[in-house]
Amino acid sequence: MSTQASQNWMCCKLFDAHTHHSPTDRVCAIESIDLYLIPEPIFIPSHRYSVGLHPWNSPKGLNTALKLQLDALSQSELVLAIGECGLDTIRGAHIETQKEIFEFQIELGKQYNKPLIIHSVKANQLLFDFKKKNREQLWIWHGYSGSTELALEWIRLGGLISIGPKWTHSNKLDIFLRQIPIDKLLLESDELPNRLEDLYGSISQTLNIGFADLVAIQGELFRAVFKTKA
Ligand SMILES: [Zn+2]
Repeated sequence: MSTQASQNWMCCKLFDAHTHHSPTDRVCAIESIDLYLIPEPIFIPSHRYSVGLHPWNSPKGLNTALKLQLDALSQSELVLAIGECGLDTIRGAHIETQKEIFEFQIELGKQYNKPLIIHSVKANQLLFDFKKKNREQLWIWHGYSGSTELALEWIRLGGLISIGPKWTHSNKLDIFLRQIPIDKLLLESDELPNRLEDLYGSISQTLNIGFADLVAIQGELFRAVFKTKA
């Protein structure tokens, strides 16, 4: 990164649409809590969260206590999204069980008017079928690694895309960014909090816009999507 970009970074907060780590003071992040792993999370008042049931841990099933707990947490003003939730045909419970758990979270999102953070692995057709029935609801396909065409189809159904550090320095980034509207694209660190800055750097370079400008664009989108003043 150039010196100019580093200087900009020093005075900018970054925005992170999805992380599994506690963010530093310089990052506004949506910290993802899987209730299967942390059934009784303790929220830090200055942090913001998404709560949900991750498909990977869906063999644990869905019972009334879990439903009530997720429902209660979803109402917290610190919880800005539901998820990550979704479908995974490689890992997790039988797909029918996953669908049932996903449907419950779709309903919660509607009830409390909060966007969904989506996990989808080898389940695209099913995911699109669900999205078509829920066009009005804001769904963020996190950790996106598919084609530009698929992303555009998703966006046409009212979805947003979130990409992570895997895209940093990717030779597909240029063509991807040329076609995906910047106001439909969120950035995330997921499991790699230390690589968020590099992702911003790579994208600002590819788009040929200043680092601080990219941060400003992300900030605006982040605030609109998660309905926060962050
Ligand atoms: Zn994740």
